[in-house]
Amino acid sequence: MAFEGLSERLQKAFAGLRRKGKVTESDVSEAMREIRLALLEADVNFKVVKDFIKTVREQAVGSAVLDSLTPAQQIIKIVNDELTKTMGEAAVPLVKAPKIPTVIMMVGLQGAGKTTTVGKLATRLIQQEKARPLLIAADVYRPAAIEQLEVVGQQVNAPVFQLGTDVDPREIVRQGLAQAALQHNDYVIIDTAGRLQIDEKLMAELTDIKAIAQPNDILLVVDAMTGQAATDVATGFNEQLDITGVVLTKLDGDTRGGAALSIRAVTGKPIMFVGQGEKMDALDVFYPDRMANRILG
Ligand code: GDP
Repeated sequence: MAFEGLSERLQKAFAGLRRKGKVTESDVSEAMREIRLALLEADVNFKVVKDFIKTVREQAVGSAVLDSLTPAQQIIKIVNDELTKTMGEAAVPLVKAPKIPTVIMMVGLQGAGKTTTVGKLATRLIQQEKARPLLIAADVYRPAAIEQLEVVGQQVNAPVFQLGTDVDPREIVRQGLAQAALQHNDYVIIDTAGRLQIDEKLMAELTDIKAIAQPNDILLVVDAMTGQAATDVATGFNEQLDITGVVLTKLDGDTRGGAALSIRAVTGKPIMFVGQGEKMDALDVFYPDRMANRILG
């Protein structure tokens, strides 16, 4: 289960506080040490951990907390609120273009769940807005990618625009957008190429596609199971593309929590959706407060 280890360790730190009738500054320090270790072990970025602990400690050692009747509960609430803040406070919705189509560009490394997420997003838009999205297959390097998107398109009942693997992805995007204009599609979702790692050629191509498509949102898909690496990937893509948000996939697995807690604080960009399964309806809006509750267990 996701966050299991982190939840357990936090609960243990809180139990230590709860046992005390009166909580002293040194009890707070002890709890902070445990929370710090728990976060580091969950693969949360060290700078995020440092700032987090500093902020929580400052609030927790105040006399309003320590002299209150329920110091432990108040400290737990401070941790909860700070976890929420670290993840961005409120949910961030997709941008809607004033004039159709709204263009969403999907980027990410191979295997992160990009193509699956294209299908999930299309499903969501179709179900919630009766949208008519066009999916553009711009990953020409992995032949199976186009086929995979076509399967996804059939599954969710959305047309797929593709020109095979011999046409430059920039041209595919140009023609796909022209097709969307002709057919009055209200959304265009572009599935771009993924690589095993960030490289210059990939980034140059994505930068060009961004310039051509002028997307309303650029969503980076990252795998929560990769922990700290997911945060590094988000930093890399954000520096090059100025992404608008992140989709954190595979949160149904036993991820330790590092990516969920670090990405917003490190990149300044919000996690907008989370993937919680392989099925097309397994995409949820990311609510920082609910995620904080889930982490606290
Ligand atoms: P891409 O290379 O980034 O396009 O990745 P794919 O969309 O092909 O996904 C890679 C694998 O991850 C596939 O087996 C997907 O079914 C799986 N996957 C994607 N998202 C999720 C998720 O949220 N949860 C789980 N458990 N598996 C996922």
